[in-house]
Amino acid sequence: MEAIEVTLIPGDGIGVETSAAMQRVVEASGAPIAWIVAPAGEACIAEHGTPLPPATLDAVRRTGVAIKGPIATPVAGGFRSVNVALRKELDLFTCLRPVSSLPGAGGRYDNVDLVIVRENSEDLYAGIEFERGSEGARRLRELVEAEGAGRIRADAGISIKPLSEFGSRRIVRAAFEHALAQGRSKVTAVHKANIMKHSDGLFLTAAREVAAEYEGRIAFDERIVDAFCMSLVIDPAQFDVVVFPNLYGDIASDLAAGLVGGLGLAPGANIGESCAVFEPVHGSAPDIAGRDLANPTAQILSAAMMLDHVGQHESAAVIREAVRRVYAAGTCVTGDIRKAQGSSAPAASCSQFTDELVRMVSSLRS
Ligand code: NAD
Repeated sequence: MEAIEVTLIPGDGIGVETSAAMQRVVEASGAPIAWIVAPAGEACIAEHGTPLPPATLDAVRRTGVAIKGPIATPVAGGFRSVNVALRKELDLFTCLRPVSSLPGAGGRYDNVDLVIVRENSEDLYAGIEFERGSEGARRLRELVEAEGAGRIRADAGISIKPLSEFGSRRIVRAAFEHALAQGRSKVTAVHKANIMKHSDGLFLTAAREVAAEYEGRIAFDERIVDAFCMSLVIDPAQFDVVVFPNLYGDIASDLAAGLVGGLGLAPGANIGESCAVFEPVHGSAPDIAGRDLANPTAQILSAAMMLDHVGQHESAAVIREAVRRVYAAGTCVTGDIRKAQGSSAPAASCSQFTDELVRMVSSLRS
């Protein structure tokens, strides 16, 4: 079988460890993947003058599919997020984050099975910002006052939240299409339209209009984001596919991950018209990086999503089943899971867990 080229961006922090673990598991699954390794992140700045080298972007464009580890972004200052830049450059407007209970993983619930669909290109993540005291901030403040739209203090930094009809419609449509393709039955749109009438209000109107096209096939409901968070914590099983503007989707995916055992288990995909980039929800975890402590499950389940995307369904299914069995056995799990379980039993290292998973994948194939 001809190998399928996939760009691999290992990332930094624990990304280096989780990406290596992921490669071992994918190789054990027998999927014919040829990795095109491409760098990104702070380490690239010295050599390439940018944390996202053009050659890396070209590799993703050429292969059409990539898997990446997390990449650190400096807080308040420094370069802008490489992750956001990648999504913007390649117009990866749909972020899919499935969240499911995994028996033995220390989750608060055993019946969660939902998919978060997050808009990836607009909202406060658009990166349109004006620094405190800048000319732009001053002119914006004057405009806001002249329009009678409100008052902004002179010492305020300003971030802008654009939500378009185009962007809202296409993400809601992506949520409904995903629901149809996966045999799911309901889409919930989450918003704060009661307060942000011109941005979230527009998102909600677009969601209702798109939902009408699917009437009789996929059910629709809508929630205000704060009430949604409470409902998610009390009874997550009521949700199926949930669609959000960018920022709420980001926050809700960590919250949902926390209900099933934590970030170490949460995979994701960023999908556009011509490219798809798969990555875990978690970041580079500098607190545990380089110590063989990371849980590579989220990265490995992201690879299972990638394998489905490239038509390697059998390998994807074997990997998911192996993950399920290793957790169900309960003897070889990493420290984050022991913590979620409230257990003082010994934890496996990232490499011990990966060894176990590779063994399980191989035994399922034989
Ligand atoms: P984080 O997700 O890296 O870590 C949050 C907590 O969860 C930490 O205690 C960490 O140890 C733990 N954790 C996360 N993943 C884990 C895993 N696989 N196994 C075990 N424990 C795990 O979030 P953060 O600390 O807010 O961010 C660190 C850096 O990552 C920042 O620079 C941030 O910008 C970046 N980040 C990148 C991405 C991405 O590449 N897509 C996503 C989120 C954050």
